[in-house]
Amino acid sequence: MTEFHDSHLPEALVKKYDRPGPRYTSYPTAPEWSDQYGPEEYVAAVKNAAKDINEPLSFYLHIPYCQKRCWFCGCNTMVSRNVNVADDYLGRVDRETGMVAEILGERQSVSQFHWGGGTPSFLTDSQTIRAFEIFSKRFKLLPDAEISIELDPRVTGQERVVLLKSLGFNRLSFGIQDFNHEVQEAIGRNQDESLGIGLYEFARKEGFTGINFDLIYGLPKQTIEGFRQTISKVITLRPDRIALYSYAHLPQGKPHQKKIDTSSLPTPEIKAELFAQARRMFIESGYRQIGMDHFVLPGDELAIAASHGKLRRNFMGYTVNAARDWVGVGMSSISYINENFAQNLSGINSYSEAIDSGKLATYRGMKLTRDDLVRQHAIMELMCNFRLDLNESSRRFSIDAGAYFAEELRQLAGFIDDGLITIEKGIIESTPLGKVFIRNIAMTFDYYLKADRLQKPKVQFSRTI
Ligand code: SF4
Repeated sequence: MTEFHDSHLPEALVKKYDRPGPRYTSYPTAPEWSDQYGPEEYVAAVKNAAKDINEPLSFYLHIPYCQKRCWFCGCNTMVSRNVNVADDYLGRVDRETGMVAEILGERQSVSQFHWGGGTPSFLTDSQTIRAFEIFSKRFKLLPDAEISIELDPRVTGQERVVLLKSLGFNRLSFGIQDFNHEVQEAIGRNQDESLGIGLYEFARKEGFTGINFDLIYGLPKQTIEGFRQTISKVITLRPDRIALYSYAHLPQGKPHQKKIDTSSLPTPEIKAELFAQARRMFIESGYRQIGMDHFVLPGDELAIAASHGKLRRNFMGYTVNAARDWVGVGMSSISYINENFAQNLSGINSYSEAIDSGKLATYRGMKLTRDDLVRQHAIMELMCNFRLDLNESSRRFSIDAGAYFAEELRQLAGFIDDGLITIEKGIIESTPLGKVFIRNIAMTFDYYLKADRLQKPKVQFSRTI
């Protein structure tokens, strides 16, 4: 079995497994959703979900605006320097939230509320209060609800942190990416490190305990030594959580990424080392790896949930508070409700037109089949908890999971030979080395990636390493 004691990943395995694959923020993945699915199907799903009055919901609010586009960005954003553009947008979010709230009726309690973007701190103070009230006038946040927001330190002042605290936000996520200046130049995002560090220290003084840093590896101009310095600084600051994302260079789908000089991107081997080095440094300094790309302090609730195999994952990231159903509002946002995925239109004009005509803005989605649910559970268990207990799958879905996944179990033999998983007593478990390749392992269970369905690939996924 291959050992994994230090930062060096076996090159042969990197070469073997570095290939395009989903990140599994959802299963089935978004490219499988149908554009025949629209507002009517979504309304029917929300109506069905409304019956579960006592089940809390998760909510996601998408603020699409940014003052400037970073070249590496994979998010759905709109660039504007005029903050007033958000006024009309919030008016539509208000109408959309009202339509959903009306269908949900008495189902009003919420365990998780996340603001993402774009840049949620693009909003002014008064717009921030308005956005919060659009939601709080209709829904009830549970006392232990997780209320989180993504912050760009370049456009977030200290007074905003104070305001967020007063509104009840208890988790902040800072976009850091890399402290190195050359890397920042190469991705079109100049962000003096004092901005992020100053805001972070201020938030700590204000009493915020749940602070996350977003970092990215695989960016142009990143070197092993330069990234080591960034990771060292992050470790000194000691945020509660670190999300270490892999840069996905997909200029065909994200034309602004063409500004990135591909010759300055790290090779797959260096990229794998960037991750492995950061992983080793975080673990040696007391962080715990959870899921494929997150590191948390041991006392953090995510670490505790992970040690009990209770970690969950959705479009908002890893969480312990994710409700069974989540509702996304705003342009391009995604909902998962009553076993249906539904996504809003991604252009501001089309989103606005739909809402102005009094309809919800759903443009694609899917109702999951029973097979989707069985495989969704398998893939999410692997992605979150690095193990899949087939005995639990059998109980949960009233199947014989060993027989159901007979073909997949045969395919997993290669991962056993490479030292990436073990299978004992019906439990598939990743080894420490296997955690780096967990996307590849999870892909075995993806019905939509089966060879007979792949004659016409519909989408280009990012690479798994
Ligand atoms: S990385 Fe953040 S700030 Fe930069 S363009 Fe994307 S959403 Fe906007």
